[in-house]
Order: sequence, then structure tokens, then C-alpha cells
Amino acid sequence: MHESIECDVLVIGSGGGALTGAFAAAEAGLDTLVLEKTPLLGGTSAYSGGAVWLPGTAVQDRANIGDSTAKAREYLRAVVGDYEVDRQEAFVSTAPAVVDLLEKNPNIEFEWRPFPDYFRAPGRMDSGRAINALDIEPSAVGDLLERVRPELDADREGAPHPAGKLGGGRALISRLLLALESTGNSRVLTETALTELIVENEVVVGAMATGPDGKTLRILARRGVLIAAGGIEKDQPLRDAESMPGLARWSMAPQGSNTGDAIQAAVRIGADTTLAGQAWYCPGVALPDGSAAFMVGVRGGLLVDDAGKRYLNESLPYDQFGRAMIEHGSERSYLVFEATDSGPVIPTISIPSVAADAHLEAGTWVMADTIEELAALIEVAPEVLRNTVEQFNEYASTGTDEQFHRGEDPYDKFFCRPVPELPNAALTPLKKGPYVAARIVLSDLGTKSGVRTDVDARVLREDDTPIAGLYAAGNTSASLSGSKYPGPGVPLGTAMVFAYRAVRAMLS
Ligand SMILES: Cc1cc2nc3c(=O)[nH]c(=O)nc-3n(C[C@H](O)[C@H](O)[C@H](O)COP(=O)(O)OP(=O)(O)OC[C@H]3O[C@@H](n4cnc5c(N)ncnc54)[C@H](O)[C@@H]3O)c2cc1C
Repeated sequence: MHESIECDVLVIGSGGGALTGAFAAAEAGLDTLVLEKTPLLGGTSAYSGGAVWLPGTAVQDRANIGDSTAKAREYLRAVVGDYEVDRQEAFVSTAPAVVDLLEKNPNIEFEWRPFPDYFRAPGRMDSGRAINALDIEPSAVGDLLERVRPELDADREGAPHPAGKLGGGRALISRLLLALESTGNSRVLTETALTELIVENEVVVGAMATGPDGKTLRILARRGVLIAAGGIEKDQPLRDAESMPGLARWSMAPQGSNTGDAIQAAVRIGADTTLAGQAWYCPGVALPDGSAAFMVGVRGGLLVDDAGKRYLNESLPYDQFGRAMIEHGSERSYLVFEATDSGPVIPTISIPSVAADAHLEAGTWVMADTIEELAALIEVAPEVLRNTVEQFNEYASTGTDEQFHRGEDPYDKFFCRPVPELPNAALTPLKKGPYVAARIVLSDLGTKSGVRTDVDARVLREDDTPIAGLYAAGNTSASLSGSKYPGPGVPLGTAMVFAYRAVRAMLS
């Protein structure tokens, strides 16, 4: 027995891409149905900082920062190279139209916020070009608020939204939901998971899903199905099958969310996949419960491997940091820093942030009065760690990191506070202790492998023919940026553009 539902457009998932696609469809008058597997809407997109790399739009024009589609095209090509050139072009040339459509709805407004692009390459914006949805008062979100996934710190505790305005990805998701609701053409079902795609005469005409009470739904979609249900980040066997570095429990996606369901359903009906083993990597602060916290904006301390030696520029953008960890292949890494007068405060943003006492009790952090004692606690040779710290302090005094060039790129200093007596704000010496070593693991913000798609987000077979009726966006689709993370907001920006293009293709 199953319940039958009909709609024009079926959207699987409720992240930034899914909801942009749903809004584009509903705003065009199509009867739109969104399915979300978990009880809360927004996925990892809700956890995010909400930075959206949509270049050359009216928002950058309003901020008068000198961005343009041409400049973004140049930058993307320089960073990503010849990979997926057609999709690169479709992306940059469509970004302005996406923002225009979204901002036409009174619930959505963006602003530019400084956050540097991640690579030194032609067309780079040193202060960045990413935009954010404006923060929003909970009262303006109304009844939808309790359906929006709260920020990561609160959500992992099972707590509701903290008091105050919703920012970051919560603002983006809330605004997209309000816009979607305002069309009067949408339904959003939570605790309803896609299980299979329905194919008739080689065309995807809908999907089977399981609802909250275990009930089976048979959903027919007259115009098409958009799968935007995240990647495989939370499924360890699927990660293993791709030799994906890092562990599912260290990934930052919400518990119980992205286990590759949509990718697997598409593969079962003939979709091709690519970019095996690729993710939006980042370092993670190992947490007492065995999970990890997204570590971004390291402004102090130094990273050492299991031999007690540095091996990277600790101020690198997080994806490059993660990739340096993979390349180096150290079994263990530690961020070594000095405690402040008020105790151990890790010199980085850590999302979520866990109290130092809990770390020290669990052993994810250790603390000692001397470098030699600290070395013993993390089982590295004391003289090696001592030399590493002394050399680092020497670099801090001259302002030049001769090994890894920390502080030479504008990004490196973006999170640092200038200190008058330091020649290089990214290099702070470790002088008096006590010293702390925090265990750092490889984490990710989602995986980038997934189904192969064309410029209109059509899902492709191995022979390059599209599977009629099936479209993919976000981390369900293989990223056009390959092994690169060009700048803040590329995951969300690309997800939103290709979801929009999918709906435009359904309408044509
Ligand atoms: C702390 C943090 C900060 C970040 N900051 C940024 C940022 O500022 N800018 C940026 O671009 N990126 C950022 N990222 C990365 C970004 O959030 C993700 O890579 C991106 O949101 C993934 O989008 P998505 O739509 O693919 O997946 P998600 O947003 O995770 O949405 C997928 C949804 O699909 C649902 N789903 C899964 N399976 C099914 C199924 N079978 N049926 C129905 N629904 C299903 C999931 O439950 C989930 O809700 C950040 C990530 C984190 C953790």
C-alpha cells in the first residue's frame, strides 16, 4: 500500500541549492514538492557561514568592489584550469540572474561581506566577492523557525535556535523558505526520504519515498526531479568504496543526513559518477565524543606531525590545509599553542567549540608547563619539538616564515589581530607556557564526488547522454571545481546556480 502524490517539480533535499531550485520552480507557477529526510530543514547549508560565491551580481555592484563576471571567469579558470570549462561558464554567466530572481522576492536580500578568495591567481578579489543573505529576526521567520536547522553548536546538543538574529546559513535557509512559501505553490515534507527514482520509458517521472510513519509515498513529477540531497559524507562504507580520506564521524554534515541516498538512487538507474575521493576538506579539532569541529581561521600556534615537525602554513584556507594533511600523511597532528592567563584558548575558530576542561579530561588536548613535557604527552621526541618551536619563534621575530611562508598571502592575516610589536601578525611566538597540544584530524564540509551533470544540471550516463527528467545540484552532483576550493561560498553558490538552471531547463 502506498500514498500517491503528484506535482510538477519534485526536489529532494532542503539545502541552499534545493530551496533555490524549489523557489525558482514555484515562482514560475509550478506545483513544487520538497522532500527532506530529517525533521529539520537546511542540512549542512543551515550550519554554514552562508557565504555564497555568486560573482558579478547586483550585490557586488551595490558594494562597489569592482567585481565582474569577466573577472570571476578569469579567476575560476586560473584556479580550476581546463576542467569542466562549459560548466564554469554556465556558472559565472548565470550567477547574476539567480541573485536577480531571488532578490525580486521581498523576503530575500543579500549583502557583500569581506572574505578573501582562496588562491593567488588572476581575477582574485583580495577582499573577496562572496555575498550573504542578511541576518533575520526570528519573529520574521515566524512558524517556519522551528523547522529550520539551528546552528551547529546548538543542533549537536539538540537545542533550539539561540536567542538573537539568525545569521549565516540559517538566514539563507529561512529567507529561501519564506520566499518559497510566499509563492503559494509549494509543499515541504520533512522526515520523508527518497528511496528510489521511478523510470518510465527511460524518463524519470517521479520517486518513491518513505514518510515519517514508515508509509511509502509514490510521487509523480510532471516536469522533473531535482536531487540536491548532499553527498556521501556521513556514510563510512560509501567513503571507503571511494577511498575518501577522513571519516564519516569527522565530517561536518548533520547527523543522519547525507548518506548518499540520492546518488545511489541515480546510479541504480544508470547515472555516471566522478571525482571519487574528493571533498570540501578542512582541518577538524578532534572532540571528546569522537566527532570533530570545523577549524577555520587559525591565528596562532603551530601544527606539528607525529614526529614533532611543522609541515604546512597553518593559516592556509581550510581546504588547502586539509589537502596538505592528506599529502603529508601523518598519523597524528597537533596544534601547539600557548595558554592565556585565563587558561587554554585555542587560537582559531572552532565550530562547534567545546570547553577546554572537557578536552583536557578526554585527552583530545594535553597541557604542560614546558615544551619537553608536552612532547612526552604527545609522544614525540622532546628535542625535535623544542627545535620546531624555537625555529618558529625565530620566524616570528623576523616576520618571515622561511619554510611555509605563513603570513605572506592576504588570506593568512584575515583572521589575525594586528599586534604592534609583531612584524607578521600570522606568526605569534610561543614563549612562556603553559603549552597546549590539541589533536587535529582531517574533516570535511561535505563530499564533492557525485553524479556527473551537464551545463543544465541534467544527470549524465557514462556515454554522456542525459537521463531525461533527472537533474542534480549541490554535493549530490560532482563539483565543477574538481580538486580546488576557489573561494568562500563556492559549494553554496554552485549548488544554487545549477538548481536554478535545472528548473529553467525543465521550463523550456
Ligand atoms: C560550519 C560550516 C560552515 C560552512 N560555510 C560555508 C559557507 O559559508 N559557504 C559555502 O558555500 N559552504 C559552506 N559550508 C559547506 C556547505 O554548507 C555544504 O557543502 C553545502 O551546504 C552542501 O549543500 P547540499 O545542498 O549539497 O547539502 P545539504 O545542505 O547538507 O542539504 C542536503 C539535505 O538533503 C537531505 N537528504 C539527504 N538524503 C535525503 C533523502 N534520501 N531524501 C530527502 N532528503 C535527503 C539531508 O538531510 C540534508 O538536509 C560550510 C559547512 C559547514 C559545516
